[in-house]
Amino acid sequence: MRVLSRFLASATDLSHFPAPTLPEIAFLGRSNVGKSSVINSLVGAKLARTSSTPGRTRAINFFEIRWPGKPQPELIFADLPGYGYAKISREISQEWPKFIDPYIHQRSTLALCIALVDANIPPQQSDRQLLDFLSASGRGFLLVATKSDRLSNNQLHAALRTLAQEYPAARPLPFSAKTGAGRDELWKQIRQAAQTDADQWMGGSELFDPKLVGTTIEGLGAGQASLNQVERTQVVQRAG
Ligand code: GDP
Repeated sequence: MRVLSRFLASATDLSHFPAPTLPEIAFLGRSNVGKSSVINSLVGAKLARTSSTPGRTRAINFFEIRWPGKPQPELIFADLPGYGYAKISREISQEWPKFIDPYIHQRSTLALCIALVDANIPPQQSDRQLLDFLSASGRGFLLVATKSDRLSNNQLHAALRTLAQEYPAARPLPFSAKTGAGRDELWKQIRQAAQTDADQWMGGSELFDPKLVGTTIEGLGAGQASLNQVERTQVVQRAG
């Protein structure tokens, strides 16, 4: 599936967030996990910069996504700052409370968090902290195992088994930005979460063609991502 994408805003403060008008998909993971590559692979363009790009790395970067032939954008991707290998505790305690924590807990349109882990390395303490944080937030999340092309089939199955044992609430989805493996499945899950979110938000929506949504998010709890109805109504009113 080809989509059109556009950089929307770079936020280092709550006041910089774009208006919450569209279902939003957040991407989280350690620096170098392949987050920019996943986003770029999904949209088929060099939209997200790599973690070495100065200036944008400590911000949440928002991108709008539009289907070809449709006049309006229908989704927002939010690229959250990558965190360090051993420093997440410090980063969570010092930086996350400022705007990342409020973003995850309060962003009214957040439909799904995509937590990225590297399939090539054993589960890291910082990954565990991220998944614990997401679980505690009550947000639906999807676990994506990146760089799957670097492993043989046997190694990949073993890595996925390890991840499933480590994070029993999640079913890890293998992904390779290099080969495109997992791309269609990830898009399906994104569309499913956004559709569920839009349905709960607006009581039904024509944003997404249900025929294109082939799978359900079993056991992932993406539907939990939604807000209470009062908040939704306020968002719709603001948007209108
Ligand atoms: P970020 O810091 O999380 O945004 O990570 P990047 O997307 O910049 O990727 C970090 C490094 O991993 C780069 O050298 C990428 O080329 C490499 N990489 C990312 N995704 C893949 C993948 O699917 N397969 C392989 N083999 N390498 C990847």
